[in-house]
Amino acid sequence: MKAIYDKQNVFAKILKGEIPCKKVYEDEHVLAFNDIHPDAPTHILVIPKNQYTCFSDFTQNASEEEIGTFFKVVGSITKQLKVDDFRLVTNNGAKSGQSVFHFHMHILSGKPLGKFN
Ligand code: 5GP
Repeated sequence: MKAIYDKQNVFAKILKGEIPCKKVYEDEHVLAFNDIHPDAPTHILVIPKNQYTCFSDFTQNASEEEIGTFFKVVGSITKQLKVDDFRLVTNNGAKSGQSVFHFHMHILSGKPLGKFN
């Protein structure tokens, strides 16, 4: 069953310009901005502009072009950061820790991140 996308979620509001963000990248399909509560010196959120609730929704329903472009952008942002060491995280569903139901990828870097959990 496809999850229902809440058009009032915080990232939808950021995309509409109703909530400000510190942009680090934007193109026609993707927006990236700093996390408001960073868990590392660099903590960037990358989101598609189209409406997908989570990673599963995105990979099942976005076009291959949209998925490919998204991951290319994630890669180019990590390159732009000029760091080799970073962590990519996406929480998929409430039990995994997802709190905003617009698909997003976290990019974390800038300190030793330790073992994941
Ligand atoms: P999740 O828990 O869904 O994987 O990640 C959601 C992230 O969104 C959290 O790291 C949280 O700090 C961030 N966040 C929540 N509200 C805002 C906001 O208004 N602005 C920004 N820039 N980040 C937000």
